[in-house]
Amino acid sequence: MDKLKSVEEGLKVKKEVLEISSELISSMGQFLRRKGFIEILPVIISPITDPLNHSVFEANIEYYDGRYSLTKSMIFHKQLAMRIHPKIFSFSPNIRLETEDKKDSGRHLIEFTQLDLEMREATRDDVMSLVEKMLINAFENLEEKFGTLLREMNPYFSVPETPFERVKYLEALEKYGSDFESVLSKRATQPFWLIDIPIDDREFYDKLDSNGKTLRDMDLIYPYGFGEASSGGEREYEYENIIRRMKYKGNDLESMKWYLEEVKKGIPPSAGCGIGIERLTRFVCNLEDVKSARLFAKRPGELSI
Ligand code: ASP
Ligand code: MG
Repeated sequence: MDKLKSVEEGLKVKKEVLEISSELISSMGQFLRRKGFIEILPVIISPITDPLNHSVFEANIEYYDGRYSLTKSMIFHKQLAMRIHPKIFSFSPNIRLETEDKKDSGRHLIEFTQLDLEMREATRDDVMSLVEKMLINAFENLEEKFGTLLREMNPYFSVPETPFERVKYLEALEKYGSDFESVLSKRATQPFWLIDIPIDDREFYDKLDSNGKTLRDMDLIYPYGFGEASSGGEREYEYENIIRRMKYKGNDLESMKWYLEEVKKGIPPSAGCGIGIERLTRFVCNLEDVKSARLFAKRPGELSI
């Protein structure tokens, strides 16, 4: 691993980028509140967290005779919160200790924040339509407040048109090969949705379609090669289905027993997504690397302040 990065490195972020990021956070929060959402406080440590669909180094804290994990995503807490309130969001700090081969991807930080939202009894379409409106609203606000500056930073900046295009995963794979996401992202000039992701490519918690092969889920992809913005979907909420999906993925049932006990008691059906704030800021400001989108950025394989 590289030696400790200097403090200056962690502070190497343009003031304007921070102002734009702050405005994005503020306008998305205000938009969601207007739509009846409440902001809940993030969960940083829990015995249960997202198993993810790729491996990362574990970040655990031993505590008495138990163990906490640092949050990889708040997915399960969002589902449980659905018992209390039908529309919630949180700016959730996520820790994913990615391997150093992702260091120069331009898109990975081992500590990042996602705007995590979840809606009870909602469909994937509800979430997509909400996110489209939320982003358009945020971009319009940016245009108003930062118009000239924004265009200097990003000559391609525009308020996207709705509805965003929907691309089926398997069709794109067949047409453009395994690198289709990056091919499509590079040629696009507007954000688009990648939908119907195959069961093997996602975690157990996104709902399986009645076709038994693809999920009722979606990724949002930025244009101009900026790649993945968000993932989300409708959720599995029935005990038998969740067990079947976990076994299929080879997830450890024992470590998830608290979640499974709650699922057995009943959790509401819901849909939601998580949108990375640093990636959104990177896209809006046209930044080479996501490390320039926040203060104290931590790239894979580095030790930073
Ligand atoms: N759990 C997803 C992620 O963090 C987001 C979501 O599905 O809400 O990748
Ligand atoms: Mg994901």
